[in-house]
Amino acid sequence: MLEKFERYPLTFGPTPIEKLDRLSAYLGRKVEIYAKREGCNSGLAFGGNKLRKLEYIIPDAIASDADTLVSIGGVQSNHTRMVAAVAAKVGMKCLLVQESWVPHEDAVYDRVGNILLSRIMGAEVRLVNEGFDISIRRSWEKALYEVKARGGRPYAIPAGASVHPYGGLGYVGFAEEVRAQERQLGFAFDFIVVCTVTGSTHAGMLVGFAIDGRHRKVIGIDASATPSQTKAQVLDIAQHTAELVDLGVELVEDDVVLLEKYAYPCYGIPSPQTKDAIRLCARLEGMITDPVYEGKSMQGMIDLVQKGFFPEGSRVLFAHLGGAPAINGYGYTFRNG
Ligand SMILES: *Cc1c(COP(=O)(O)O)cnc(C)c1O
Repeated sequence: MLEKFERYPLTFGPTPIEKLDRLSAYLGRKVEIYAKREGCNSGLAFGGNKLRKLEYIIPDAIASDADTLVSIGGVQSNHTRMVAAVAAKVGMKCLLVQESWVPHEDAVYDRVGNILLSRIMGAEVRLVNEGFDISIRRSWEKALYEVKARGGRPYAIPAGASVHPYGGLGYVGFAEEVRAQERQLGFAFDFIVVCTVTGSTHAGMLVGFAIDGRHRKVIGIDASATPSQTKAQVLDIAQHTAELVDLGVELVEDDVVLLEKYAYPCYGIPSPQTKDAIRLCARLEGMITDPVYEGKSMQGMIDLVQKGFFPEGSRVLFAHLGGAPAINGYGYTFRNG
């Protein structure tokens, strides 16, 4: 479905699918759990899901003759870290607006993890005191204006690389990749669990899995704590992406399965249950999930298994989208393990 789009390779290739056998056993072997390790997809600054999206955005940035990538996120944004890495890799400058999306007070929160890596990679990092919002922000528009005012040629990449015309394409490719891997494995997954915030990961999967009628088996776990906005954004991006790739199927609101129960208390802050899920998965599988995203989708998946949401014998694919560097900002939270 993606042949007609230009792709700038930023990843190693198909990501591994790993069976989480000890977690499946811990949960009573009612289902078989697998993880697709998107966090191990690249050598660029620890990788993650944003690189799959950026592979389809960067050709446009290069074609536009830009010299500066401008993007936005929270202080511990994985996305801005990946934009910084890509800017370095393709030889552009990078300006990042990092807003105070998370009411979190770890002493080194703005010094470690993602923001530390972005600084090392040479990005100009601008801390801005604005709260959480996944839509287009004034601080970001101001940054674009400033790059122009000083003679630069900015290229705008929105939060999470989501509301960009090509933001949904990368995860259409994810679904195609899963189908190819399923042919080798000799079975197909019954459900795909994904963490959803700015929406294009989930949206791309909806389009990609609609090909074989599995789009409603994509179970989004909201981590934004603004689920109606996130859900609307997923649908928008999915419909736009469906048109781009000539899907021929109309996606409707009911196709977006977004579970809202796990994002509490708010974006970026782990609940006691999220912390338990992070510890459990780390201790059973050596797999690190973060307090902002993957810890919440892991918590959601565990809860759904325990409640019998997935019929017995289901094969569940947990899309592990990366994000581990952010855990450095939660040193106090995990000071006792
Ligand atoms: C950005 C991100 C997500 C959410 O993906 P969206 O496309 O913004 O919905 C989930 N997990 C990690 C680790 C991320 O960096």
